[in-house]
Amino acid sequence: MLQPLWDYMRLNHSETLRSPLFPVILTVTSYFVLCLPYLACDIMGKKWLTIHRYKLQPDKLPTKAMLLHCSGVTLYNHLLLVFPAAVGQWIWRPPVPLPERAPGLLELAGGVGGNLLLFDFQYFIWHYLHHKIRWLYVTFHAIHHNYSAPFSLATQCLGGWELVTVGFWTTLNPILLGCHLLTSWMFMVVHVYVSVEDHCGYDFPWSISRLFPLGVYGGPNKHDVHHQKPNTNFAPHFSHWDKLFGTHADFNYAPPL
Ligand SMILES: [Zn+2]
Ligand SMILES: [Zn+2]
Repeated sequence: MLQPLWDYMRLNHSETLRSPLFPVILTVTSYFVLCLPYLACDIMGKKWLTIHRYKLQPDKLPTKAMLLHCSGVTLYNHLLLVFPAAVGQWIWRPPVPLPERAPGLLELAGGVGGNLLLFDFQYFIWHYLHHKIRWLYVTFHAIHHNYSAPFSLATQCLGGWELVTVGFWTTLNPILLGCHLLTSWMFMVVHVYVSVEDHCGYDFPWSISRLFPLGVYGGPNKHDVHHQKPNTNFAPHFSHWDKLFGTHADFNYAPPL
């Protein structure tokens, strides 16, 4: 099913797709594009009542200073870490070969799901340690907890070490799982989306957590609780690790359906 699309991409944009810079440009662009709709909701605030009723902490909209601070941290991280890493990749890594065969739809969906589950496990451990060991928390993770009511631009309000770790896993995991390039790129975009959604501060009817039964998937509601009660809900996406380790906290707000 994906073969015609893959053939078109492979035959017409081969140089762009083979560049080691492509995944970096793809994830950075997706991040800003995916933040924009939520940013518009925050700026409009109570003027968009139909939207605002889905806000998880309705009285806590980000201020201009908060938006500028997060944008500044993101810009700083991109100039100091992402850009040099991208240039390094461009210099040192040869262009990747493009396979002729496209992945099947099931293979693509399974690969994206497998990558999300693996990342969820890795980040759970990282996150747990960076809350339980005070030095790690203060040195590396505290910056992400500047705001107890998350908003989209707070997603990448991260210390450099956290950004490097997240970038390392999202690049390495698809290789470890033997994923097709198209699956890897799809995972990267989906991962950016779910991370932004986790921090968006709204629990919309189309939130991914509502697609899964029995609270299997946490989503924005669960991560919002983590920013209010930082010793709970360490897993970024799913709920099983927090339930197993006894760190799961229930949602504190039930938005209208
Ligand atoms: Zn967060
Ligand atoms: Zn945390």
